[in-house]
Amino acid sequence: MNEQKKIIFSNRAFNSIVSETYDKIKTETGGILLGRIIDSIWYVVEVIDPGPNSIFTITYFEYDTPYVNHLAKAISKQYKIELAVLGLWHRHPGSMDTFSSTDDLTNSEFSRLLPQGAISGLINIDPDLRLTIYHVSLPLKYTKTSFEVGDSLFPDELLKYKFSIADHKQQNKEKIKNEIPITPSKTVNPRKGLLNKLSKLVSNFRKTTTIIINNYPTAENSIPQNKSIDIDFLIELYSKEELQLENTLQVNYESEIRGRQIFYSVKDFKNGTLINPRIEFQVSTEITNPTFLCDNKAYKFKEGIFSRYVESKINQTEFTN
Ligand SMILES: [Zn+2]
Repeated sequence: MNEQKKIIFSNRAFNSIVSETYDKIKTETGGILLGRIIDSIWYVVEVIDPGPNSIFTITYFEYDTPYVNHLAKAISKQYKIELAVLGLWHRHPGSMDTFSSTDDLTNSEFSRLLPQGAISGLINIDPDLRLTIYHVSLPLKYTKTSFEVGDSLFPDELLKYKFSIADHKQQNKEKIKNEIPITPSKTVNPRKGLLNKLSKLVSNFRKTTTIIINNYPTAENSIPQNKSIDIDFLIELYSKEELQLENTLQVNYESEIRGRQIFYSVKDFKNGTLINPRIEFQVSTEITNPTFLCDNKAYKFKEGIFSRYVESKINQTEFTN
């Protein structure tokens, strides 16, 4: 009767054993086999790892039991046909492919879980990876059993998950209907981390509630005033400019916030051509008086100024605002 027993691993299950073995190549390791028995065929659907708190030495290995119990349940529940603990596998040093007396105890425990007993696998690397599987029955008796690997050898139903997206939606129909749709916030998309940086900067400013304009070398008269910051305004202003650089001029740039200015450095075209020397300019992060700084001059911010400046540098023409 035992001779007719057959074990089939899913691709995923077998892969887990191989992967865990090579991951812990210098020590023992192991895992738990989950699956179903149908007509004397033991189908191993999943193999779970021994857990972060398991103990690995060259000759000794112990499972992280709470982890294994938790994971076994969680994984089993995913399947249309829930899985059972079929047994275990572990690595042995050298070519030792029989069980130790400690293994006998563990195997006995596992074989009590199901009326059909359990299966217990041993991995040896001598030097290739070799898996030997035994059927374990009580009173303790081991029978070497052959195995195969392949999803195609499984009955279809056995590898199916319990729920499809459609099932989930159907089951939660009422909840979904009453859900308030998630709408994007009114700020533009964060790109290149600038908005993040800017938000941080401004939230620091906000703590002081008012800001005082620095003394820029201004080309035009600007009237410094105290005013609280409107981050959305700045984000929109500079994001539009950045988009133009990226999409219209097709250049790559870096930006960095230093103090109350954002430093831009245009370094190459999107096709990979370097711009030499780099084109550099700055903008202020003062909401009351957005200022564009380049070539040691300061200009009042006007729409499209990033592109106009960069273009003039590329074409070596005079920059006018
Ligand atoms: Zn052992």
